[in-house]
Amino acid sequence: MTVLRIANGRVIDPSQDLDKSTDLWVDGERIAGIGTQKLRADRTIDASGMIVCPGLIDMHVHLREPGREEDETIATGTAAAVAGGVTSVACMPNTEPPLDTQADAEFVRMQAKRAGHANVWPIGCISKNREGKELAEMGGLVEGGAVAFTDDGSPVVNSELMRRALEYAKMFDKAILSHSEDLELTRGGVMHEGLVSLQLGLRGMPAAGEEIMVYREIALAEMTNGRMHICHVSTAGSVELIRQAKRRGVKLTGEACPHHITLTDECLRSFDSNFKMSPPLRTQRDVDALLEGLVDGTIEVLATDHAPHAPEKKMRELDQTPNGIIGLETFLPVCVKALIETKRLTWPQMIAKMTVNPAKVLSIDRGTLQPGRVADVTIIDPNAEWTIDPARFYSKSRNCPFTGWKVRARAHLVVLGGVVRFENGKVV
Ligand SMILES: [Zn+2]
Ligand SMILES: [Zn+2]
Repeated sequence: MTVLRIANGRVIDPSQDLDKSTDLWVDGERIAGIGTQKLRADRTIDASGMIVCPGLIDMHVHLREPGREEDETIATGTAAAVAGGVTSVACMPNTEPPLDTQADAEFVRMQAKRAGHANVWPIGCISKNREGKELAEMGGLVEGGAVAFTDDGSPVVNSELMRRALEYAKMFDKAILSHSEDLELTRGGVMHEGLVSLQLGLRGMPAAGEEIMVYREIALAEMTNGRMHICHVSTAGSVELIRQAKRRGVKLTGEACPHHITLTDECLRSFDSNFKMSPPLRTQRDVDALLEGLVDGTIEVLATDHAPHAPEKKMRELDQTPNGIIGLETFLPVCVKALIETKRLTWPQMIAKMTVNPAKVLSIDRGTLQPGRVADVTIIDPNAEWTIDPARFYSKSRNCPFTGWKVRARAHLVVLGGVVRFENGKVV
């Protein structure tokens, strides 16, 4: 058993309202405590000038395995995660085949264990084969380790099926994660529908294409009293719908992605496919509303929607390229730019949205530095200045919209279950 003393850092743990300069002790795979402990350190890690927090959690990640290993594998995706300071990822089930059985969920966990980089929490399909017709074997998926359900990549079009999914998930105390999109309104769209799409002559996806479905999800959550989580909220209207529903006491949570709080549809003037995703980049008004939602607590989770695509797929014409961008290795600095450098959130407020809050949505035993809990710890250098260069990423893919950005803050050292997995800029 190795004892680690992480010395003199600013220890921030929103799960226990902790923000203080002290030592954090790790004994074997568990957190021992802070301050002075009756332990002898096998290794002392100097964390002066650093932030020491629970390992970051990204609850919206596409790892692509099985089926699309040319884009990403569980091994490369989890290496990218720890390099970004993320110790736990929840992976989306839109693989080939989709994760809709107990054996599928078990396969993902086995591959993650074999890779040994970050924890992977599989999310199971809502419907069999993601076809939106019949419910998947939700009980079996839970047995296999699934922590939530979604057909992400696609909406669940059939409202009755979504109602039953909420009712079943409630029996297991699991959340439903909604990719809120009305496909009839968005079909063929490559960007947000608005002034810019009109000027560029590109087919648009209107804000209503998201908001109609967000409203339906709220209505179904309210009716069933089930737990509903809205993925990648992107419009001002969605933020307001979620805000109002929460006031009424609906069991609802919301998630925002780094790209939706930093970029707008103006980026598409470059015709660069690294600005194409679903939901699309919206207008400045939407960005401002998302930021406001993060500040007032309407949106309690930050997640990347890390969506790798091999370079040749993203090099085609805009209407031929798949949606999505990678995000694990830029998660922290891009959120810092949008939220900390602008003084919208404090470090503890932002870290809560990357640790304890997603842990609560998924009901996973992570996102905390409480004594006795598994020692997943991220040490952040908040002042490290660097330039984003996807050529240096651990991800297999390079579809990053932040190339060349000068940013601040990065993971300095990452501990998983008491073992150092990232240090000196390298996954170890
Ligand atoms: Zn989605
Ligand atoms: Zn997604």
